[in-house]
Amino acid sequence: MLSKPQTKYPDWSRFLAAVWHDGMSVHNMDKDIAAEAVKNSSESILESLTRRNESHVIRPSAFLSCARQSYHFLAGDEPGKMPDNIGPTFAVGHLLHEVSYAAVKSAMPFGFKVETEKAVDLPEWWVKEPTHFNQSGHVDMFISITDEEEARKYLPDSVVNDQPKMLVDFKTMGGFSYRKHSKADYSRAVDGFGYLAQLAVYTEALGTLGSGAILAGINRDSLMQPLMPRFIAPSTLMKEVERLKRAFDSATQLQDPGPEFLIRHGAEANFFCGRGGKPGYCPFKKACKAMG
Ligand code: SF4
Repeated sequence: MLSKPQTKYPDWSRFLAAVWHDGMSVHNMDKDIAAEAVKNSSESILESLTRRNESHVIRPSAFLSCARQSYHFLAGDEPGKMPDNIGPTFAVGHLLHEVSYAAVKSAMPFGFKVETEKAVDLPEWWVKEPTHFNQSGHVDMFISITDEEEARKYLPDSVVNDQPKMLVDFKTMGGFSYRKHSKADYSRAVDGFGYLAQLAVYTEALGTLGSGAILAGINRDSLMQPLMPRFIAPSTLMKEVERLKRAFDSATQLQDPGPEFLIRHGAEANFFCGRGGKPGYCPFKKACKAMG
């Protein structure tokens, strides 16, 4: 007997976590949906294991953490390479994304539509120059309320009325990052991997920025841990949109904005920027350091 969420949840985050949890059970996972997930993930897994993953264009998930990253890329600086052995990490990420899609689709009650890997055109302010800028993207999951009366069994009236659609982006994380993610204040987080930029671009593209978005952490070190959905407020997404527009202005005019991420976050940025003795993750950390 398929178990569906039974109670009313105070918000989208707790509703999503409950649906994901139910869907992960062997009693609830739909076999056909699971088979589709396994099929979909196999190609991505193969690619991750056999091809390099670096981006060669600016896209919502690449080169947008910092205005100087976009500038470096457009100025022709070569981004640093990812480690040769990173493939299995990406492969596991693809699998866990597909398994999460299958779990949510299997256990989602009537009254909601779940779309996954939804193709979107980027917002009108996105730079329309296809050589250096990707011109389309995909969102992990987009959930729409299709029957308000049914949805009110699980979500408060205010959520049904004001947030009828919700974008969900899944991130697979190691245990340390998962714990950090569970406590992060995303209104001021040091977002070196550009998660917020990605959500800001996609919610603008889909016209749902006013509903906010969900960044859902999956603990790849311990899959018995719950899904950790964090709600990102519209005000945070709007701040990102304004920052990205300014970043594009300086980058497309090839004007160096300076080490913008370091200026914004101070010593907290060292972990990402590779300063203060930290190894760093920014693909342009060497070029950036050389410029001061
Ligand atoms: S090292 Fe830091 S400040 Fe420099 S480009 Fe990268 S993110 Fe920006």
